[in-house]
Amino acid sequence: MRPEILFPLFALATTLKGIGPRIAKLLEKVTGPQVIDLCWHLPTAIIDRRFAPTVEDAPEDTIVTLTLRVDKHEKPQNNRSPYKVLCSDDTGFVTLVFFSARDDYLHRLLPEGQTRIVSGRIESYQGNKQMTHPDYVVPEDERDSVQIVEPVYPLTTGLSSKILIKAIRGALGLTPALPEWLDGPLVKQRKWQSWEASLREVHSPDSWDDMESTSPARTRLAYDELLANQVALGLVRRRMRRGKGRQIDAKGALRGRLLEVLPYELTGAQQRSIKEILKDMALPQRMLRLLQGDVGSGKTVVALVVMLQAIESGAQAVLLAPTEILARQHFATIEDLTGQLGVRVRLLTGRDKGKSRQALLDDLASGDIDLLIGTHAVLEGDVEYKDMALAVIDEQHRFGVNQRLMLAAKGPGPVDILVMTATPIPRTLTLTAYGDMEVSRLDEKPPGRKPVDTRALPNSRLGDVVTAVTRALSEGAQIFWICPLVEESELLPVTAAEDRHKDLVSRFGADKVGLVHGRMKAAEKDANMEAFIEGKSQILVATTVVEVGVDVPNASIMVIEHAERFGLAQLHQLRGRIGRGAEKSTCLLLYAPDASETAKARLKVIRDTEDGFVIAEEDLRLRGAGEVLGTKQSGLPEFRLVDLEAHQDLLLMAHDDAAIILNKDADLQSERGQAIRTLLYLFQRDEAIKFLGSG
Ligand code: ADP
Ligand code: MG
Repeated sequence: MRPEILFPLFALATTLKGIGPRIAKLLEKVTGPQVIDLCWHLPTAIIDRRFAPTVEDAPEDTIVTLTLRVDKHEKPQNNRSPYKVLCSDDTGFVTLVFFSARDDYLHRLLPEGQTRIVSGRIESYQGNKQMTHPDYVVPEDERDSVQIVEPVYPLTTGLSSKILIKAIRGALGLTPALPEWLDGPLVKQRKWQSWEASLREVHSPDSWDDMESTSPARTRLAYDELLANQVALGLVRRRMRRGKGRQIDAKGALRGRLLEVLPYELTGAQQRSIKEILKDMALPQRMLRLLQGDVGSGKTVVALVVMLQAIESGAQAVLLAPTEILARQHFATIEDLTGQLGVRVRLLTGRDKGKSRQALLDDLASGDIDLLIGTHAVLEGDVEYKDMALAVIDEQHRFGVNQRLMLAAKGPGPVDILVMTATPIPRTLTLTAYGDMEVSRLDEKPPGRKPVDTRALPNSRLGDVVTAVTRALSEGAQIFWICPLVEESELLPVTAAEDRHKDLVSRFGADKVGLVHGRMKAAEKDANMEAFIEGKSQILVATTVVEVGVDVPNASIMVIEHAERFGLAQLHQLRGRIGRGAEKSTCLLLYAPDASETAKARLKVIRDTEDGFVIAEEDLRLRGAGEVLGTKQSGLPEFRLVDLEAHQDLLLMAHDDAAIILNKDADLQSERGQAIRTLLYLFQRDEAIKFLGSG
């Protein structure tokens, strides 16, 4: 249970004074629904209203606070012209300008003959100084309430800065003093303040220096968040490691026979990774290993080899894929390769229902299945194994820590876990997502891959693309045609794909052009996919469902419409579908000419390199780490306060700190341990708390 002291922070924002449901809705858009979300919403700029020059010295286009005499009100002559209030000081004149303002209100605000403190942006209009809609107008004795440094927050339409600031002030008013979870000497050495003082400070910046990620207050909060992340991962890892693991060992007969039928030699990187994994499996501790390899680096066969080892040792193995299409493809590939090995391979997906599903489950429970391949369906409660020893998760950035744990619980004893990922996360960042899992890397591509010729063309060249495609088709090429990503709706990309499909069918004929998208009936999707894999159709129009792992070596052309809407990682993954066969491959990126500069920079990166790690680094540079790791579906943690580029050293510190804490006090019982529990709740990493003590 969440500690009581945190209740006010996790209450809905509507519990704050002056925040009704309408504003709460707007707040939810920018910050989140809870009070704590307001606390985490940090300013991105400041407005310094301390600058108080005379009118003469007030520079144009600058925020200033002036002390003005109100000389005269000038009502508008017609509906379109503004209401003007002429003011001055001893050095010059300035006109305050109001559009559609009420006369009586303005007379109360700015009584003629009196002096007012006025703050806002100075502009010049026809050679005269003016200020349109001043931000503040107050009597002289309230000068201190105006001459301040104001934080500037990201907003949304309909939400004014004033209201947001008020809500955040309200939220800060509710922040309790929390027990210190950081190490005393560290706090002292870094001259950090307490959590709540740091939080207040980041919301009342005094200068631009305070806005830097490296300011003491921001650093402390980032460290808190990293520590929560590392302790949570540490707890999960400890739980998974608890108890004796099993030693999975075998002579390697099955593996040897597989290598005989395999139509290619394993790369050096594949051999090295297999060796590392097998060694780990043979140890008495539980394996928790990450196999990281760029798209097309050949992870599947590595998985197969190590699963065969588990099977030869007399146990079962499971391969978990993120999508139906991929599960089917893995099944087809693996069934093909293991046909002569006497290994019993079966497929289980959400589509299996009723009797046939039950029969499969029975076979699994009685040990008549050696290798199960499937989607999330293999995680369901009634799926029981006779003796599962190894789970391989082809993660492709879709699974979270929880699902890994569910799989781990399926075996009679501890299950060895291998997570495969194509997400080219820069090295240091893997730590935030996986903690200290051991990592094997496939840093070498299978031989014979030809570089993909990648070109970016404006949408207006669609006609040329169709001409090129027509020629390629006549030469027997196969083509992926990717339809745009539309974020707001799942329906739009389907419409786009359907329209493009119709269009291409009318040019090339229905038998040549297939279609797959997420909303299609399963059987139809399979049939269309299969037709393309078998070379019966030549063009496959698709939404991004093909992103995850399909393998059609003969496909040598990819067209991506509205490429500017895709992220770098996604473009890289998509392009990885081609360039796998003997043909020279081409990737055509169609883009809207009015795309943003960043979008164009992304396309340039994709054109210039095929190296997943370079692309990941560029991605980091263009977007910032928060965003790279922030995408909801990535299964990677979302940081709210950490700026991984600026805070990398903190990450390593937090990692060591977490290890020390858990070594000393594995159940978080000590005083500091209790404070760390509060920290985990504060950053909503409390799922990890479940792993304390029990199991
Ligand atoms: P990914 O790492 O993206 O999952 P896959 O396992 O799908 O990659 O492999 C991509 C393609 O490379 C497949 O067609 C596979 O048969 C082929 N492949 C894998 N290893 C080798 C190798 N050592 N030599 C040649 N081709 C290979
Ligand atoms: Mg794969």
